[in-house]
Amino acid sequence: SKVRVGLLFGGRSGEHEVSINSARAIAKALSSGENQQKYELLPTYIQKDGRWLPQAVSQQVLDSGKPLPESASLADAPYFAADAATQVDVWFPVLHGPNGEDGTIQGLLKLMQVPFVGSGVLGSALGMDKIAMKMAFAQAGLPQVKYVAVTRSQIWSNPCVFPKVCDQIEAELGYPCFVKPANLGSSVGISKVRSRSELETALDNAASYDRRIIVEAGVTARELECAVLGNDEPKASTIGEISFQSDFYDYETKYTEGVADLAIPAPVPDAIASQIQACAIKAFLAVDAAGLARVDFFYIEATGEILINEINTMPGFTATSMYPMLWGHSGVPFPELVDRLVQLALERHEPAR
Ligand code: ATP
Ligand code: MG
Ligand code: MG
Ligand code: MG
Repeated sequence: SKVRVGLLFGGRSGEHEVSINSARAIAKALSSGENQQKYELLPTYIQKDGRWLPQAVSQQVLDSGKPLPESASLADAPYFAADAATQVDVWFPVLHGPNGEDGTIQGLLKLMQVPFVGSGVLGSALGMDKIAMKMAFAQAGLPQVKYVAVTRSQIWSNPCVFPKVCDQIEAELGYPCFVKPANLGSSVGISKVRSRSELETALDNAASYDRRIIVEAGVTARELECAVLGNDEPKASTIGEISFQSDFYDYETKYTEGVADLAIPAPVPDAIASQIQACAIKAFLAVDAAGLARVDFFYIEATGEILINEINTMPGFTATSMYPMLWGHSGVPFPELVDRLVQLALERHEPAR
């Protein structure tokens, strides 16, 4: 009989729309070629308010490719559908950002004792929180930019503390620097700042997204990405490069068609590519990721320096997203990639003791 794959998508995050697009591509792959005989798709759409919708309406959202309008949203759907859970053999949580990529959903799926694609609670949480992530990377000896960790209360609660935090950032990092909510993605809430007043505004803005904020020294560098696939012995893909005209790789640049260019393989020396692949695997293991991750790097060409930027444990997964494109160029076509991920989830699953 077919393996029933519970596709979880949408979700309570700023990356809700991205998730729908990723889920559409995965749903298509699960029902194409050999996968069609192997898998049965059970879609569960998570509304923006976190409620889980039944299969029929979830399928409609998947088909339309658009979030359910607020007027059509179900006010009394449950926050977690137990009946959906009993029908699923393996979950595929295609959720990006907070409440999906950060260990919260992974904890729920673990409690259900059903296997699921991707990292577990620890790997997801470490991969989402840029402060914890950087601590794990530092411990693993991975080179990265200098940073300062800030809390919302330092920004909002005490007017005497705030200037001191800004002084510290200026002294330790200087300008330009990047202010980021620690737990987000798609560049939401991120600012590049060049002055004290921009820094103050950016910290206030980032604090509206997250209790935890990170400020990083800005580097001028090429941006290279590597896809990782596997569990305890993960493999790294070919390296890709992203280039664009905008100031940095912000939300608009990421999601407006034709604004960013992807080059696969990235035109870099072989030695640089292998160094990045080794770092990507190190990073994957450092946060205890599983199944898949996309690891992003800065490459300072003048000095040959490679700095790790971040890991994404549920990277964008549309047909034109970097993660599946990198595997496509590394000899793993999209439908086979999805198949491999489901198999990795089944292999990793430990029955409850
Ligand atoms: P994703 O959508 O990949 O999850 P994200 O929201 O986690 O992204 P980052 O990757 O941390 O955000 O940063 C977004 C972009 O901002 C980077 O791709 C890069 O263009 C720019 N950027 C971030 N940090 C720095 C830095 N320290 N120096 C230079 N540029 C940076
Ligand atoms: Mg990220
Ligand atoms: Mg992300
Ligand atoms: Mg990124």
